[in-house]
Amino acid sequence: MLEVNRERMHEKLSAFSKFGALEGGGITRLSLSEPALAARAEFKERVESLGMILESDDIGNLYATWPGTVEGLPRIVMGSHIDSVRNGGNYDGVYGVLASLEVAETVITEGIKLRHPITVMIWTNEEGARFEPAMMSSGIVMKKFAKEAMLAVVETGGTVTFGEALEASGWIGDEANRLNDRDYCAYFEPHIEQGPVLEEEGLDIGVVAGVVGMVNYDIILEGVSSHAGTTPQSYRKDALRAASKVVMDLWDKLGALADDLVFTMGEITCRPNIHTVVPNYVKFSLDARHQDMNIVGKVVDVVKALPSEVYGCKLSYEEHWGRKTIQFDERLLGYLETTTKGLGYSCKRMYSGAGHDAQYVSELLPSAMIFIPSKDGLSHTVVEYSSPEQAWRGANVLLNALVEADQSF
Ligand SMILES: [Zn+2]
Repeated sequence: MLEVNRERMHEKLSAFSKFGALEGGGITRLSLSEPALAARAEFKERVESLGMILESDDIGNLYATWPGTVEGLPRIVMGSHIDSVRNGGNYDGVYGVLASLEVAETVITEGIKLRHPITVMIWTNEEGARFEPAMMSSGIVMKKFAKEAMLAVVETGGTVTFGEALEASGWIGDEANRLNDRDYCAYFEPHIEQGPVLEEEGLDIGVVAGVVGMVNYDIILEGVSSHAGTTPQSYRKDALRAASKVVMDLWDKLGALADDLVFTMGEITCRPNIHTVVPNYVKFSLDARHQDMNIVGKVVDVVKALPSEVYGCKLSYEEHWGRKTIQFDERLLGYLETTTKGLGYSCKRMYSGAGHDAQYVSELLPSAMIFIPSKDGLSHTVVEYSSPEQAWRGANVLLNALVEADQSF
């Protein structure tokens, strides 16, 4: 089995963690911000010094390519994103780019002959922390979002549009360079798990079979506001009391559907939100995710079966958005499993509870993801951490799976 250079993998992660570094650890490296552009410049310097050809497309996605030995074969692509959330960590996104870069560097410097060209990719604005929505540029490539509408998106808390930031970045390239299914044949995305499962179970690698399906609702209770001192309890139509009952009922009913269903009621609006007034309006969110769409369907049934009146308050709900479970490519998953075992690492198949660019790419190309453990299951925080050993192992799996794919695609 092949291995990447462990010290070099670690050096890459250390070098990139200085772009947007915060005092006391972590980074803020919002999409197309100064630190993100500095990280892109560093990427450019590194890939060009390896002799790779760097191209960008019309949304600033970067593609660094090393030729294969057989003329005319499509490229195998691997990568992720380098932007972070505010007060984010040194691994989410950038690990996938740097593991891919380390794999390419190993192929190039060790003279490993691959039939297909290989491409290391950086997706623009995956996090959506500066310009909403998340996974913006893979979404544009896959026609989920209209490009013109995305260019007009104004940054959160500022005045610059995505289009202006892109223009100023100097990274606008040719639309013909966008990821496509003529010039590319397979996509790998290494990433940190962002959850506790691998660490809890003492596993080295997550072979990511797909991204869970989800539904998203707002549930609304409408009562009557009245004076906190003069309205006897029995006369009240208290929307917060009704919402509390619905929240607890949902916990019981959804909790009984499946052990591994995850659901969250994480946002609440209460009106008038005054301590001397009985609340007349409460709206709360419900987010539920599972890989089995039958289970997701049962969540929908539970919501539809909610009573129209609770403690005298009117109940209604709005469905926001959802997505079907994304299944990654069985062939690539097989390569990831056999190479993981060949390397002597432990692994399990799992689904990603979070969204990733790979979910859009999977509609275009055979795709798969590799997870490495996240310390304490934490991400999108400055304490995000995966050990040098874990980072190295993930890149080794990618390298060997790449070689497998190269021989059979
Ligand atoms: Zn990410």
